[in-house]
Amino acid sequence: MSRISLPKEPRRFQMYIGGEFTDGASGDTTTRHSPAHGTAVAQWPSGSAADAQRAIAAARRAFDAGPWPHLSAGERATVLFKVADLIEQCAAEFGLIESLETGKPITQAIGEIKGAVDVWRFAAGAARVVKGDAHNNLGDRVIAMVLREPVGVVGLITPWNFPFFILAERLPFILAAGCTVVVKPSEATSGTTLKLCELLHEAGLPAGVVNVVTGRGSVVGQCLLDSDQVDMVSVTGSIATGRKAIAASAGSIKKLGLELGGKNPHIVFADANLDEAADGVAFGMAFNAGQCCVGGSRLVVERSIAAEFTEKLAGKMRRIRVGDPLDEQTQVGALFDEAHMEKVLSYVDDGVRMGARIVCGGARTDDQNGYFVQPTLMTDVRPEMPLVREEIFGPVLAVVPFDTFDEALEIANDSVFGLSASIWTQDLTKALRAMRKVQAGRVWINTTLDNGPETPLGGVKQSGLGREAGLAGIEEYTELKTAHINLHPRVHWIS
Ligand code: NAD
Repeated sequence: MSRISLPKEPRRFQMYIGGEFTDGASGDTTTRHSPAHGTAVAQWPSGSAADAQRAIAAARRAFDAGPWPHLSAGERATVLFKVADLIEQCAAEFGLIESLETGKPITQAIGEIKGAVDVWRFAAGAARVVKGDAHNNLGDRVIAMVLREPVGVVGLITPWNFPFFILAERLPFILAAGCTVVVKPSEATSGTTLKLCELLHEAGLPAGVVNVVTGRGSVVGQCLLDSDQVDMVSVTGSIATGRKAIAASAGSIKKLGLELGGKNPHIVFADANLDEAADGVAFGMAFNAGQCCVGGSRLVVERSIAAEFTEKLAGKMRRIRVGDPLDEQTQVGALFDEAHMEKVLSYVDDGVRMGARIVCGGARTDDQNGYFVQPTLMTDVRPEMPLVREEIFGPVLAVVPFDTFDEALEIANDSVFGLSASIWTQDLTKALRAMRKVQAGRVWINTTLDNGPETPLGGVKQSGLGREAGLAGIEEYTELKTAHINLHPRVHWIS
């Protein structure tokens, strides 16, 4: 039984453009049904190209005329700290919206909102540390300064898997840099982004600094990419969307930040603490129902312990509590929607057809009201199988054995992706050697999915371009301007 009851009718949200709440030009709406219950839980405008253009114009005005980019970093930080306080006061409400729209467990959703508060506070404080440079070593004649300036109007396109946390890893950093922004959240999970607008308004953020336009990527997102009034677009999403963003931005040659997919390995050496590694691997593959860009989806395990470890891991995975996200005991909720669930299960079925073996899971759970899939472990896979190569974005883990250190790293790096990797061994030297060789933007040793606003995140290879969070996460939204200043009478070129 759910401890929190489902809403009787969907919660209605409006878009936020130029400091005003609006239903948009067309009046059309999108309704989101909870993927765990089937109930309609939220409704927001289906934004049009006209709404996107209005939001871009508002952001442009707010950047060009100010005052936001011209405030001191301290003044900007004061507003951002206030927003963080307001989010904190509403954490339970935000958590419920997030859980209902995404299908993730309520306890996890509230945890993500509280984590987001911490990220907003980091970005607020870090605003004051951003600085340029001075070059006093160019000889007597000149001195040079390097100014760090906000990049301008940013388009921010976000996905459905961590709608509010991913927003927090970008939006306060963009604002700390002094930019203005048009946010385009996922059309399926826009609630918490729209709710945030009420708090931005209350905190006194000047009109036009943040605008939110809901709607389809191919309409609203495309406008942001096409517009010559937008200076930079940050896209977090699939590799396919990343490719479209690169193509679309060619017209205006704008700066792009891309945080894309992953096919992340857990490398487990025979000398690892196998109980801890099994727990970590199970957590890393099943967290957020496997819909986590940095979640581990390949288990690269030393052959001498592969059978023992696989059995231990399957034992853990069978005990993961999958079910109603509103039950506080639930560890893993529903997948995003029916089509996505079918896609995840088709990877399993195709794998079996190609000779792979299901050790545990492999199907929906007994609760067929929602899109719940059992944590699934598969062995006897071959390197060319889609199960091993493609981002499934569900709770499915493929096991690939190795014999030597070099082979482990070769398998781990045999992917177009390079987002994250987890290494499990008690030999520190081996761990550090593996850390150096593995191709990934984030590496964990004897842990997985650890995170914090201080450290930058992003991918190598086709997992993305640029970095979010940390000081790098503010610098990402700046440009450098170099100035040379002559200190002596000019030696004339024309006598
Ligand atoms: P998606 O690519 O389908 O959508 C992401 C966003 O892009 C949405 O807001 C969508 O509307 C928009 N979009 C889609 N087509 C567009 C277009 N032509 N022009 C402009 N915008 C467009 O991704 P998703 O299904 O929402 O999220 C899952 C994906 O995101 C996975 O691949 C996952 O790995 C990735 N992801 C990456 C990170 C990271 O930090 N690297 C974090 C979370 C999710």
